[in-house]
Amino acid sequence: MPTETFEFQVEARQLLQLMIHSVYSNKDVFLRELVSNASDALDKLRLAALKDDTLDADVSDLHIEIETDGEARTLTVRDNGIGMSYDEVGRLIGTIANSGTAQFVKELREAQEAGGGADGLIGQFGVGFYSGFMVADEMTLVTRRAGEDRGTRWSSRGEGTYTLETVEDAPQGTSVTLHLKPADDEDKLQDYTSSWTVREIVKRYSDFITWPIRTVPKKGEDGTDAEPETLNSMKALWARSREEVSDDEYHELYKHISHDWREPLETIRLQAEGTFEYQALLFVPSHAPHDLYTQGYQRGVQLYVKRVFIMDDCEALLPSYLRFVKGVVDAADLSLNVSREILQQDRHILMMQRRLTKKLLSTVKDMRSAAPERYATFWREFGAVLKEGLVTDSDNRDALLAASSFASTHSADEPTTLKDYVERMKDGQEDVYYLTGESRESIENSPHMEAFRAKGIEVLLLTDAVDEVWVDVVGEFEGKRLRSVAKGEVDLGAEDGEKADDEREKQGEEYAALLGWMKERLADDVKEVRLSSRLTVSPACVVSDADDLTPALENMYRAMGQ
Ligand code: ADP
Ligand code: MG
Repeated sequence: MPTETFEFQVEARQLLQLMIHSVYSNKDVFLRELVSNASDALDKLRLAALKDDTLDADVSDLHIEIETDGEARTLTVRDNGIGMSYDEVGRLIGTIANSGTAQFVKELREAQEAGGGADGLIGQFGVGFYSGFMVADEMTLVTRRAGEDRGTRWSSRGEGTYTLETVEDAPQGTSVTLHLKPADDEDKLQDYTSSWTVREIVKRYSDFITWPIRTVPKKGEDGTDAEPETLNSMKALWARSREEVSDDEYHELYKHISHDWREPLETIRLQAEGTFEYQALLFVPSHAPHDLYTQGYQRGVQLYVKRVFIMDDCEALLPSYLRFVKGVVDAADLSLNVSREILQQDRHILMMQRRLTKKLLSTVKDMRSAAPERYATFWREFGAVLKEGLVTDSDNRDALLAASSFASTHSADEPTTLKDYVERMKDGQEDVYYLTGESRESIENSPHMEAFRAKGIEVLLLTDAVDEVWVDVVGEFEGKRLRSVAKGEVDLGAEDGEKADDEREKQGEEYAALLGWMKERLADDVKEVRLSSRLTVSPACVVSDADDLTPALENMYRAMGQ
């Protein structure tokens, strides 16, 4: 087959432009990304070989190699892993698969045009392979999929097109060669052909990779080969004791797993001994991914069995409302051939899920008292997802409520827990009041709030779609009913007692004619027109029946086509 030239997909081209004109200040990370891909490819091959013993692949010495050439100014990262077919190269390398990415690229360009500030943004998506263009003006990839005969060469200068051609003699796996930008490049790049530089970068970012990362020895002065050197310690971080591992090392593992270039918010370790042994290393990211609420969202907990990678995105390990958690779970007694279907029903996995869930929820709760700022970040990013648990996980309801906080009229910027709310309740107040709406502002301006404000009664201000649902499902807290201030009759007059009742009766007679007239005129729109004690300033407001759907919920169900 002749060499064919293809155009990059639009988003990919834009991303490449950003890479070439480099928006990211720490360019060393390109090597981490290439090593990360190589490591994934080795994991995949080992697993494929375990599952299919007819696979014609060599798995005898799986490793990663880094070769540099100072004269040619090249750096090559090579693996003998799963490799890619011709079609796969076009699909995986020529496009950006992640749907949310196009949006990011747009934001990234805007941030850059506004004068920098793109470091934070660029970390939000897996620009992995393309990051090579931060330091190279040309990249070549040669790959052969394990079990296939022919290989593929991909090459690009990052400028809108790439070429593909079939090659006959490619070794199994993938090698990526960077043709480094000139040494006097304005970016003042490090010398990535220096073995010292390479060693430092690998140590810093990829030490935990469980496959050997070797240098390719240069010929010595006397013409003999020097020994290859293994640059990483290869120790699985989750199998090492806490004291032995630095935060930085944990964070690099997080970046490898999550494809997020930023630091995680929280690192959680868990070890279980006994009949069902496992180790878990879990991370709470510092930012919610844009696609968290979409169908195809990839969860991020990997399953290992005795250090052997089994699967990404293992949904059986955590409930859906914790789908933002990333990490590794390494179980001692599972079959390497275990399938997703089996996992969903496995008793041990279920026990593990329960334990991990409890640990995560208690971590969040502790964070609230011990690190309020971090908790605030957590709640801003993940509060709405966590609240899904209030609807779906009644077993952990108390722990979820203890980890949750809600905006309230008590404070303009500090959310409250239900517990604190109850402690502040006025004498005679029997229910926990809330109002749902689009935004804090719109809720605060609601006429429903007037009487509560006048009487100084605290109201929770709930603005997430899920709030409508959980308040109904949960129903009460410590024996106090959760009540919407927009539903039914609200009796705030307890302290004025009978006098108020008399008064209302009198007013009722006085206004009977007006109310009757209004009811007639509005017959198509309302069930009833009545005098109310809930308003102090506004002349009138619309109220739902106690068990009617609220307007927002009506909208939600309508949007769902029900
Ligand atoms: P990500 O790693 O986040 O998926 P990358 O841009 O780093 O994104 O890589 C894109 C895809 O290209 C990978 O998901 C993988 O399928 C494929 N790929 C990249 N490098 C290799 C490699 N060394 N061996 C096999 N496949 C690879
Ligand atoms: Mg990658």
